Amino acid sequence: MPTSDFDAADGGPPPRVLVADALLPADGPAVPCPAGVLLAGELARAGAAHRSGPIPLPGPGTEEGVLTAVFDGPDGGTAGLGAAAAPDDPAAGEAARAAFGAWRAVAGVPRRVLLAAPRSFCAGVERAVEAVERALEQHGPPVYVRKQIVHNSRVVAELEERGAVFVDELDAVPEGAVTVFSAHGVSPAVHAEAERRRLGVIDATCPLVSKVHAEARRFAGRGDTVVLIGHAGHEEVEGTLGEAPERTVLVENAEQAAALEVDDPGRVSYLTQTTLAVDETAGVVDALRDRFPELRGPDSADICYATTNRQEALSAIAAETDLVLVVGSGNSSNSVRLVELAERHGTPAHLIDGPADIRPGWLEGAAAIGLTAGASAPPALVDEVIAALRGLGPLSVTEHETTRETVRFSLPSPVRRG
Ligand code: SF4
Repeated sequence: MPTSDFDAADGGPPPRVLVADALLPADGPAVPCPAGVLLAGELARAGAAHRSGPIPLPGPGTEEGVLTAVFDGPDGGTAGLGAAAAPDDPAAGEAARAAFGAWRAVAGVPRRVLLAAPRSFCAGVERAVEAVERALEQHGPPVYVRKQIVHNSRVVAELEERGAVFVDELDAVPEGAVTVFSAHGVSPAVHAEAERRRLGVIDATCPLVSKVHAEARRFAGRGDTVVLIGHAGHEEVEGTLGEAPERTVLVENAEQAAALEVDDPGRVSYLTQTTLAVDETAGVVDALRDRFPELRGPDSADICYATTNRQEALSAIAAETDLVLVVGSGNSSNSVRLVELAERHGTPAHLIDGPADIRPGWLEGAAAIGLTAGASAPPALVDEVIAALRGLGPLSVTEHETTRETVRFSLPSPVRRG
């Protein structure tokens, strides 16, 4: 490989390993390497600086240290894997050999993907992301967003590139600036602070979260102790607790529910976070009802349609698969619940932000892979995972749809057109 392949570009660290995006034979067509992103992920975990580019297939005169493999690919074609380390960097050579060896060991075998549907973006997330996009169009950057607009690192990074500025609290927002509240909702105290600071607020709280806030006000207003079932520290929970902080208690599991003490056991209501596991939450409600027989709940379930649908869709396929991959970020509650659900079905499951997070060891012996995505994960990420898996050998993809979603929410009024 010419040493110029390992020169630094754009002032960044020099790439010490080149990952093949195609293998170039001396004659004949290039061999595509769509699984290069998987190899790159392994190198990133090993701390090896890398970039992608074409690599010539070995022939007479090829230097040592160029690692390539060509195997059966999708649709009767071929696919390849390739890596080459800077000749003057033994550590990079070692990292390249380890990453290449690990992925080569699981490449070239047929697999099938069972794709759960519905998956990926829900109506509340689409609305929130579009609200930020519209705000950027209408006002130009910067547009401030309190907390992550939705819990997905790709979505946040793309909006940041376009001029969104994500802040933890409103004191980081200049007086009067355009500010979007995230899909998870905020407490009345945050609304009051925004008003005090004369911020131009675009409230992208999901309408289904707003419904829970309204229930909290209603239940507290009639004098009940409001038991909120949810996860401590989650932004949605913080916002809902803030509606009636003096009358609301948080319960995270059935044990806490069974031990709960309240002023008047005859006046207790419950609410839930919208993104909990349906089966686990039923157990917590049962424990509350055992303790407080007159327990009252919301008119319709607080766990939202999107959370419920994604769990049902995954339940329908999880037991048939050897491995479940859930596309979503670590702070996405509904995505984490999908991983736990698959595990309760007895299938090993992993949360991935994208294809680079997949580990080669997960695919050993995994002929059938279940694939889904949390409500905050963009559909494009699922496509990227499938494309990378296609680079490992023949792949059949079958979608299993349990229901069709038609829910749409109108945009917040400040960014609504017409
Ligand atoms: S997961 Fe449910 S509550 Fe959360 S934004 Fe989506 S639709 Fe709304």
